[in-house]
Amino acid sequence: MADRMQQYVTSARQAAAKRSPAERIADHNEIRPDLAAGEADRQAARCEQCGTPYCQVYCPLHNNIPDWLKMTAEGRMEEAYHLAQATNNFPEICGRICPQERLCEAKWACTLEQAGHGAVTIGGVERHVGETAWANGWVRPRVPVRPSGQRVAIVGAGPAGMAAAEELRAAGHEVHLYDAHARMGGLMSYGIPEFKMEQHVVARRAGLLLDAGVILHGDRVLGRDPGLEELRAHHDAVVLAYGAHVARRLGTPGAALSGVVSAMDYLVASSRALIGETERPGIDAADKWVVVIGGGDTAMDCVRTAVRQGAAGVTCLYRRDRANMPGSAREVENAEEEGTAFGWQSQPEALMDVPVDVIASRPDGFGSRGAVRMVRAHRTRLAASGKGTRLVPERVPGSEFEIAADLVVNALGFTVEDVGALTGGAVAMTAQGRIAADRTSRMTAAQGVFAAGDARLGPSLAVWAIREGREVAATVARYLDAMPARPELEAGAAAG
Ligand SMILES: Cc1cc2nc3c(=O)[nH]c(=O)nc-3n(C[C@H](O)[C@H](O)[C@H](O)COP(=O)(O)OP(=O)(O)OC[C@H]3O[C@@H](n4cnc5c(N)ncnc54)[C@H](O)[C@@H]3O)c2cc1C
Ligand code: SF4
Repeated sequence: MADRMQQYVTSARQAAAKRSPAERIADHNEIRPDLAAGEADRQAARCEQCGTPYCQVYCPLHNNIPDWLKMTAEGRMEEAYHLAQATNNFPEICGRICPQERLCEAKWACTLEQAGHGAVTIGGVERHVGETAWANGWVRPRVPVRPSGQRVAIVGAGPAGMAAAEELRAAGHEVHLYDAHARMGGLMSYGIPEFKMEQHVVARRAGLLLDAGVILHGDRVLGRDPGLEELRAHHDAVVLAYGAHVARRLGTPGAALSGVVSAMDYLVASSRALIGETERPGIDAADKWVVVIGGGDTAMDCVRTAVRQGAAGVTCLYRRDRANMPGSAREVENAEEEGTAFGWQSQPEALMDVPVDVIASRPDGFGSRGAVRMVRAHRTRLAASGKGTRLVPERVPGSEFEIAADLVVNALGFTVEDVGALTGGAVAMTAQGRIAADRTSRMTAAQGVFAAGDARLGPSLAVWAIREGREVAATVARYLDAMPARPELEAGAAAG
């Protein structure tokens, strides 16, 4: 056990070693194990213990990072867990999937990173603290002390809905979680692949919520069954946390060919097969030439899933260069190690149903009903836009090229489903395409109906969704406190 902090001069940053690329592409399991106990202590003891901890500032949950690092270094693991859990409902989840290099471990957040010593492995230690707590039975359901007699419906069982459910249940409310899928987790269960976070990690947290008395209504779709008015009639408050799942349009000719799919459909199909909900993935890259279009983390998840499914070859096309891609450098590195080819500064212009070797006879031809056989693209150069800081890709004349593809995955990102259509017009969208809600109270135009997570923010991160869930829970609790109990509420929730 480390007996003092600030060990960064003699102790180097050390993350848990990744499995070899050959080993990890043979399965879908996590590519890194947990930090070993002795190593977690050593890594935590590197912390500078800054007077103004910018790591805490840049963590969306404002975790008390220096304090739980010190407790870990001193072997006070149970205290470390309770402190970590006080600000984060799912520490071992964030430790795995937060892009730490852009948050708590960035050079603007960790003094050691800025000073060239290498950031403290904050995420790795947070994961270790959570895992140690699970192993020792310190993670307990937060059963309410006194029931409030009030009932809340949460639509969407992703990280925002789950965090809100845990907080509201602990505050004494009867909490009903409605989700279109059978399980809790949202994108943590059906989007984020297992090589980033294995399913049992989410399932454990879901089980804890059920043990605390949260009631899950799976396979229930807002707008069809139940409707918003039904939920409002049977609950004192409703939280809309249904995420952002509508794929951005691929505007190229040929986008409707068969074999052209959205990243969400592709990843959900893979997850459902791995969870055991289907026998095989509904969309399978095995033996196919796969082209993934996009440069974010979702694109990286798609290429890495395709490699694991046994694709013949996987290429990622992105219109900017590596330095200007939106995704995390860590994920690009993982994808490269696992065999994905990257076409930087490559903009698709048509998807075609003719093979590359006969394109000479149909240079401009593409059908609209066949199966995709190739992608035609051109190279770009990056130019200053004059408006913002982001460089704009421009076509390089005469740079067209073709690439064989029998599965094309659109990973251009997502938008929020129109809440007006889901709620019969009771709730509106903002001009930016998110659920419109008051900034402070999070209440929408409909009395007692709140919004949280990606549905309110637009596509974001799990850690922001957890923060959203916690914040909406606090404001819903205040709203319920100010409301007289409603004895007329029917026994049994809306759709029970
Ligand atoms: C492929 C992919 C990879 C990602 N990787 C990471 C990562 O590594 N790290 C990270 O921090 N973030 C990652 N994210 C982002 C992160 O997953 C999301 O920001 C986060 O899950 C949003 O949480 P949420 O609770 O708001 O919504 P979601 O997690 O999207 O959950 C919303 C839930 O609502 C349900 N739902 C939708 N419509 C309805 C309806 N009409 N009726 C009932 N239920 C409905 C859905 O089934 C879903 O379960 C990734 C996202 C994607 C798409
Ligand atoms: S929640 Fe994310 S950003 Fe915050 S300390 Fe943990 S890993 Fe870092």
